[in-house]
Amino acid sequence: MIRKKVLVTGGSGFVGSHLCDRLLKDGHEVVCLDNYFTGQKQNIVHLLDNKYFELIRHDVTMPFFTEVDEIYNLACPASPIHYQYNAIKTIKTSVMGAINMLGLAKRIRAKILQASTSEVYGDPQVHPQVESYWGHVNPIGERSCYDEGKRAAETLFVNYHKQNNVRIKIIRIFNTYGPRMHPNDGRVVSNFIVQALQNRDITIYGDGQQTRSFQYVDDLVEGMIRMMGSRDEFIGPVNIGNPNEFTMLELAEQVIKLTGTKSKLVKMPLPPDDPSQRQPDISLAKKELDWAPKIQLEEGLKKTIDYFRSVI
Ligand code: NAD
Ligand code: UDP
Repeated sequence: MIRKKVLVTGGSGFVGSHLCDRLLKDGHEVVCLDNYFTGQKQNIVHLLDNKYFELIRHDVTMPFFTEVDEIYNLACPASPIHYQYNAIKTIKTSVMGAINMLGLAKRIRAKILQASTSEVYGDPQVHPQVESYWGHVNPIGERSCYDEGKRAAETLFVNYHKQNNVRIKIIRIFNTYGPRMHPNDGRVVSNFIVQALQNRDITIYGDGQQTRSFQYVDDLVEGMIRMMGSRDEFIGPVNIGNPNEFTMLELAEQVIKLTGTKSKLVKMPLPPDDPSQRQPDISLAKKELDWAPKIQLEEGLKKTIDYFRSVI
């Protein structure tokens, strides 16, 4: 095995910390870069004694220099509450972060993977979503700072590849959940579980008939590693998600069943531009990466519930 030096931006966030764990477990050296906007030191504190792990506080909107073989670019708040908190900062993080990391990749000839998102499809009119679908995004809506930032980052990645031969990889991540989600992060899985464990009302936005397809974090990390290791000509974008689709009411029922809570459902207004449906077509990931998710909702929810029981 060749020990690689790997940079993970957003490495102390929910997904980033699991990726750092996996890279170290595989025998690599990890540089974790984060500004702690939504990430927490707690997510990576168990790694601080590892001689092959280095932690750097830095904001990706500012240039950064290091010598690594691979870069995973994850820095960006992912929950609607957090990315809408400072919309200008969110789009700067996606766009300037991509420019800075692509510039670094070009200079040191590193391979670079972009954590893009199913949000590039917006409120999709093609279902399930295939990578060739261009999407249905409101450019001036509540979600646009995130959606358009991620779309512009994809454009930057593709053009650094075409113009400067930078070796790029783009994955479009669908809703992911698991241990180390922030309890106040506002995303649906963490909200429902925390509410259930505290016997508080479970907040259903709108009629609860909107759908999402939930992927457990370990499956995503496996997909990321496989994508980074795939043949150079395959740059993506490729969907990484679990095609099993649920309504938010079905998700709430599962959480109620698995926690045994006394919580009741309460309806709240649907936020603007909330996509009505989302399901990945993962044929491309199966073909190119021989990848498919292994952990289904009940098993993943049980692990996540155990985690939240231990922290709240
Ligand atoms: P997260 O909020 O837990 O992690 C993001 C990390 O980036 C945090 O540690 C945060 O502090 C850091 N960060 C934010 N702005 C930064 C900046 N300017 N400079 C340096 N660090 C910064 O979210 P996550 O769920 O772990 O998401 C990780 C990545 O995956 C994001 O790019 C997100 O868009 C993408 N993604 C996640 C999901 C999902 O369901 N979790 C879905 C699609 C895409
Ligand atoms: N949602 C909900 N209750 C909550 C949080 C979210 O019903 O307490 C809904 C939200 O309106 C959306 C879905 O759950 O339709 C997924 O929301 P999340 O913020 O997790 O991710 P995204 O909308 O970005 O997929």
